[in-house]
Amino acid sequence: MVRMQRRLVYSVLGDQRQGCEQCGWCCCWWSIEVRPAELERLRGYDWAGESARLRGVELFLEQGGQGRKQSSTYIAQIGGRCAFLEGDNRCLIHRVLGEEAKPAVCRGFPLVLGQTVEGVMVGVNCGCPAVMRNRGERFSQLEGQVLRLLNEADADPEGASGLLGEPIVARPVLKGSTRLSWGAYLELEGSVGEILSMPGQTLTAQAMAARALVRAAAARWEGQVAVVERDEMRGWLEGEGRGGYAAAFAGGGGKGRWLSRARKRGMARRIVRAEAAGSGDGETRGNRMDRMDGGDREDRWDQTDRMGWADGVEGIVRGEGRLWLSVLGGMVDLAAVEAMFGVESPGEGVLTRFLLNYVRGKSLLEAPSVVRGAEEMLSQLYMARWYAAASAVLGGRRCVGEGDVVRGVQAVERGRAIRGGGRSW
Ligand code: SF4
Ligand code: SF4
Repeated sequence: MVRMQRRLVYSVLGDQRQGCEQCGWCCCWWSIEVRPAELERLRGYDWAGESARLRGVELFLEQGGQGRKQSSTYIAQIGGRCAFLEGDNRCLIHRVLGEEAKPAVCRGFPLVLGQTVEGVMVGVNCGCPAVMRNRGERFSQLEGQVLRLLNEADADPEGASGLLGEPIVARPVLKGSTRLSWGAYLELEGSVGEILSMPGQTLTAQAMAARALVRAAAARWEGQVAVVERDEMRGWLEGEGRGGYAAAFAGGGGKGRWLSRARKRGMARRIVRAEAAGSGDGETRGNRMDRMDGGDREDRWDQTDRMGWADGVEGIVRGEGRLWLSVLGGMVDLAAVEAMFGVESPGEGVLTRFLLNYVRGKSLLEAPSVVRGAEEMLSQLYMARWYAAASAVLGGRRCVGEGDVVRGVQAVERGRAIRGGGRSW
């Protein structure tokens, strides 16, 4: 068995910063789980006495979790917002009892902690606008906060998985029966990051080339060895990297093929599914929140539902019709989104930061294989761009701005959490 260590490994961009700007995004839409000790602390307080809007509100709700043996307790939502979120986007628990009294998931956000063979990975949830715009303190200065969370995880092994997620496997699958040693994976991840940062290329070309590199690695070792070791991978990547990864860029397919019809249909299915899940359809985390919510979002989903599932997907693919987007809170004209979708915008720097942090945060390992993980990375990019275009359309803007891209990334991060992909929730 591989021993997990407590060394901190910062899996974020070297210059990454974060400082909460009280935008309230991470307190909306999510279902916030409260562990027994936290519940005991919070239940004994007269919250209605502090905030009149909480009179008669049942603040803590027990729900049978997905795939869990025991039910869990969640904070109720009011209109899609955590019941403790005040009108000024500040946390009532924080104001009254101090930061330490908040549930661990709240104190941890936007950190994403994962156990790896080399130590505890400290990644980041890119839905936080301060992260995307790189504002606040340097990440390394958050070490005290990380260590406090880890000490808590030690003291509460049952709750530790919620903070740390499942350990990341030491030998990830590259494709089929070919596995990578951890060192080989890190070499490959490093090259993917290098490609995504290469100057003089569009982000689309970079992402396509990064996927081509991962596929080429899979082809190189297919059926040859069971485990690719670090030195072998490093030697191969040195060859691939000469000439600025020319082969990967040539194999990436370029801008013309950046979004095939099949890929677009896949993306459309995921958008419609995520919107359904976030609006009250399906037994998902979003669904649990809606039941807490009193169902006003179900009404909104009905508006989309009249279009029908298949029509919603085809509407996105063809750019026809109108769709309710719960994450953006508006009904969007799909032809207008189509016209703006994929046009590179001033927000590309935000998208680059998102993808680089996504890769460093070991998200390529969330799929069954690294090859599939690279496909998933492309899907995340497409979806972020699509939602960014939708945000611009809803805002009546003629082009996609940085704020739209941030909202696009937030939509993607929310979709990942609904599917259970986000490690921090
Ligand atoms: S999303 Fe980020 S900036 Fe907004 S409230 Fe949460 S931590 Fe603060
Ligand atoms: S408990 Fe406080 S920090 Fe946590 S989601 Fe609610 S308002 Fe936000």
